[in-house]
Amino acid sequence: MGIFLFFCLGLIVGSFLNVVALRLEAGTDFVHGRSACPHCHSLIAWYDNIPLFSFLFLRGKCRTCKNPISWRYPFIELGTGLVYASTLWLFFNSVEISAWIETVWLLGLFSFLIVVALYDGKTMEIPVSLLQASALWTAGALFLLDWNLSTNMIWSLDGRTVSGLLGALGAWVFFAALSFFSKETWMGWGDSWLAAIIGLAVGIKGVFFALTLSFGIGALFSCILLLRKKAGMTTQVPFGPFLVIGTLIYFLLSQLDMIQYGGSMWIANFFS
Ligand SMILES: [Zn+2]
Repeated sequence: MGIFLFFCLGLIVGSFLNVVALRLEAGTDFVHGRSACPHCHSLIAWYDNIPLFSFLFLRGKCRTCKNPISWRYPFIELGTGLVYASTLWLFFNSVEISAWIETVWLLGLFSFLIVVALYDGKTMEIPVSLLQASALWTAGALFLLDWNLSTNMIWSLDGRTVSGLLGALGAWVFFAALSFFSKETWMGWGDSWLAAIIGLAVGIKGVFFALTLSFGIGALFSCILLLRKKAGMTTQVPFGPFLVIGTLIYFLLSQLDMIQYGGSMWIANFFS
């Protein structure tokens, strides 16, 4: 029941994240103002603005002008619904304080990351304000998680805070090198800061596997584009969305006990 409620909550949040990303892109005030159709500018009634269901009911077309509604709305709504439901399912229990902290932190972090992915997918840029917010939010959560165990954990090499900082450093150095040596043709500087936040979140033990997943998904997607002749070898594909999808999958897998000792162990087992 709780999981179903969180799925519905995720649908609603996803709908909101879509609007936040669109209005950040347009540089408009995203608190006020109602949503309108981008084609005919008619305001969207509340009953046509119900996450997922309105898209299905309207068969993906604006009620007034019959122009198609972007697939990104139902896709992100459904995706956020699934992410919220699985976060609750995999990370939450009502007994442990750490589970409360981790669940709230991840729901917030994943929401930030979904907006980053949407924005980067459209503009090939990553807004600094979102990165700063995600970094602060994550650093605060790691600190609380360690502090909840003992004050010594905050400075301990076994703690999440130190592990996160090392992960962030490792990811940043790797991506910064890619973007420096390729003169930003493979990776942009925005990607290196996003990768640092992901390193912070997953820690030094998880960073290799999370980034490998992202590269794998990105490579697969590029191959599909090439095969369908929608892209040439020189087409630039934003990498942010793959980093975000890789991270989401990493967190889900990490709780399903498919990664026990971080990426290197998993890969070692895989090839042995
Ligand atoms: Zn319309």
